[in-house]
Amino acid sequence: MSDTHEIKSTNPASKIDYGLFLDCVHCGLCTASCPTYVELGNENDSPRGRIYLMRAVADERIEATAEVKRHLDLCLDCRACESACPSGVQYGNIIEPFRLAMQEQAVADGDPPSWLMRKFLFDTFPYPKKLRRALAPARWLQRLGLDWIIRTKLVSSLLPKPLDRMSRMLPKLKPEAPPLPEFFEAKGTRRAKVALFTGCIGSVMFDHTQWATVRVLQENGCDVVVPRNQVCCGAIHFHAGESEPAKEFADQNVTAFDIPDIDAVIVNVAGCGAMLKEYGHHWQDEGQPARKQLEEKIRDVNEFLDELGLIPPKGKISLTATYHDACHLAHAQQIRQQPRNLLEAIPGLKLIPLPESELCCGAAGTYNMTQPEMSDRLSQRKMDNIISTSASAAITANAGCALQIEQQARSQGVKLDVYHPMDLLDMSYREVSL
Ligand code: SF4
Ligand code: SF4
Repeated sequence: MSDTHEIKSTNPASKIDYGLFLDCVHCGLCTASCPTYVELGNENDSPRGRIYLMRAVADERIEATAEVKRHLDLCLDCRACESACPSGVQYGNIIEPFRLAMQEQAVADGDPPSWLMRKFLFDTFPYPKKLRRALAPARWLQRLGLDWIIRTKLVSSLLPKPLDRMSRMLPKLKPEAPPLPEFFEAKGTRRAKVALFTGCIGSVMFDHTQWATVRVLQENGCDVVVPRNQVCCGAIHFHAGESEPAKEFADQNVTAFDIPDIDAVIVNVAGCGAMLKEYGHHWQDEGQPARKQLEEKIRDVNEFLDELGLIPPKGKISLTATYHDACHLAHAQQIRQQPRNLLEAIPGLKLIPLPESELCCGAAGTYNMTQPEMSDRLSQRKMDNIISTSASAAITANAGCALQIEQQARSQGVKLDVYHPMDLLDMSYREVSL
């Protein structure tokens, strides 16, 4: 069958180049790296099986039933299959438009996200001010030492399920850091001028890591600008099938960054970085060239510093830690060695390899709320692997993974600190001991 194969416009595969299906030669080399296949052992929950299902729908051999949707919805979008595939199958470019079309056409009877879930996911999370307000009661309860109340069985049974799950995901919130000023000057010889992408959840729940990132960049000779009118990267909406609002976020970000004036836009959350690096690909309209220009300047902070040449920090960090590869860094951006290179430059830090380091921890954006059962299985598996290293800390470069690992440690009563590579580099530059 050729890649000019005609697909009806009502078919969820209609926007997919049929040749992408043909790239898969069914070798099965991807299956061992797929978290859902590893957990369930069901071919329909493997990359090969999902491609087969979608192609069968495209060929009209089967219908896009609720059963098909269930197998596709269980996919974490972790892209481990792309890393493993020797044929270069662009799995993300198949499943993303397919799921989007299934959602838009409502071809199957899935559970639509609840009203409350939508409210939090789409109307609160992407907006730092609203998110700060929503977190204020939890912050106060934590400050008063009363946050155990929301974890009691009674309160838990009264809360709607998604809200209950969200409240359990909540980490110990640190006191709010002051807002980042718009400009920071490089220390020593100026080597680059960069802009910092601060994101939504990252800027509220990981504000201390934003400050750490800025200080590390300054130590490495970078002027850092923090544009005020930047917004969420759009990933929350996009991966939930809400393409239009995601595009609006993208276009606002295009106007927020002064592209010709900077060498790079630095991102320290892997999920946002992966989304921003696909701006030029997601929407084909008159705004595409400008989005592509922004996309070309996007650099993960680990990638950028490793390429620039890290100025070695001097402070000793006496810590034994293990590094978890965030899917959106390792698989979506192919960034694996760079964070390890940076961490190895920290005096005193001992890194122990993590078994199954590249297997998803189950966070996967909003997956831990939409697919709680599989998310919990993967989270438990990740924690078992972390415990097997005997490390006292886990390091990861993605906010979602950090929350997931922290939550799992808390629920199991495991004493484990979780850091972003920039947190530890910053402490080392500032010679702050743990
Ligand atoms: S996606 Fe790639 S690795 Fe998996 S079965 Fe197809 S060709 Fe093989
Ligand atoms: S994206 Fe991840 S979960 Fe989905 S099929 Fe590929 S490896 Fe499996």
